[in-house]
Amino acid sequence: MSDAIKTGLTHADQTEVVEVGRGVLARAGAIIAEHLDVEARPVLIVADERTWAAAGQAVQQSLRDAGLSVAEPLIFPGTPALYAAYEHAETIRERLRELGALGVAVGAGTLNDLVKLASGELEQPYAVVGTAASMDGYTGFGAPMTRDGVKVTMPCPAPTVVLFDLDVAAAAPKNMVGSGYGDLSAKIPGGADWILSDAVGWEPMHPLAWQLVQGGVADALADPLGLAAGEPAAYEGLVNGLILSGLSMQVYGGTRPASGAEHYFSHLWELDHLGQDWDPPLSHGFKVAIGTLAMCAFYERFMARDLAALDVDAAVAAWPSWAAIETDIRTRLSGSLADHCVKETRTKYLDADGLRQRLTALIGSWDEVRARLQSQLKPARELQTMLREAGAPSVPEDIGLTAEQVKQTFHSAAYYRSRYSVLDLAREAGWFDELVEEVFAPGGLWT
Ligand SMILES: [Zn+2]
Repeated sequence: MSDAIKTGLTHADQTEVVEVGRGVLARAGAIIAEHLDVEARPVLIVADERTWAAAGQAVQQSLRDAGLSVAEPLIFPGTPALYAAYEHAETIRERLRELGALGVAVGAGTLNDLVKLASGELEQPYAVVGTAASMDGYTGFGAPMTRDGVKVTMPCPAPTVVLFDLDVAAAAPKNMVGSGYGDLSAKIPGGADWILSDAVGWEPMHPLAWQLVQGGVADALADPLGLAAGEPAAYEGLVNGLILSGLSMQVYGGTRPASGAEHYFSHLWELDHLGQDWDPPLSHGFKVAIGTLAMCAFYERFMARDLAALDVDAAVAAWPSWAAIETDIRTRLSGSLADHCVKETRTKYLDADGLRQRLTALIGSWDEVRARLQSQLKPARELQTMLREAGAPSVPEDIGLTAEQVKQTFHSAAYYRSRYSVLDLAREAGWFDELVEEVFAPGGLWT
């Protein structure tokens, strides 16, 4: 276990043990026997046809070798899209209840979420054996779920035991590692957004959560070609980075450490059902990869300007009233999304006096804040090459969008959450529209 993960576990109140390495499947039974209260209870493996073949059988053998009572496994069809809905969490919950069993999820995001939710509803612990480095939700709490046709995140605790065999991760389908790589790359602009949010006093820095999530990013992204080539050693950094990201959310008690405005792009495209009918469906991390590049390119244009030289009087004079902003939101968006954006944006809206204070204070500390941002950010082109090498999307077309559609998403993303990001600061400085134009001007990342 890495020192960073040890530190994370000391402060995380839900996950007790994380084991990442080669040969972990063979030790799974012993670790689960030690950390779940399985004395008088059977364990139920929940997998799908693919993850059962990749790791489930070996986990079953290992559980039996450790002397555990293993129930007949619950195996879903091979495609997560076919079982990613709340009713399947109910199926798992009822099976666990009938058997008096504890759950062991063997799979990636969807299976983990289903068993997490089923176990949470029974108020009992569970274990997950991850099969792909595809996202950072293994050690996170809460389960995103489709219920009655709507996407919601249902509250439930994180797993007690998290196991990851690097040979299994390296053998997973290549699009899955590209997805995990995309989700991890988000920590670069997402971290920059947190620095800004801290600087304006909106979401203060949490040093431990920051250290956990950001400490692993460089290692996680270091070897994109090794990941694409399926080299198990290359997976250690990425898997650790994804696990640390989840732990940092546990320590913080929210998603702030792991996501910034780049994630809003992904959420907005998900609300549009982008790529849901693809086979396999377009993943979270793939959408996040393009959101991440969009935000890194935006940051580059932002950092090319000098906030310290801003004419604060002019910015305050040009600042729209709340009524004008609400009108703009309702012109661009409709229905429940418009209502959502009005509510979120209202929370962070400042009147002219508030804006003057914010900008004046930020300019006063800008030398220091700018230095923090510069050490956090990475050139968009460099990251684009790394994403491409890892098998993640690097141009909008890779996820079925045009550059123009990504450009339009900037406007909705600025309104999507009450969280503070560089999109807000750019709006407050009066630069937002110009910066978006610059990102998509000839010679830019995608033009
Ligand atoms: Zn994510």
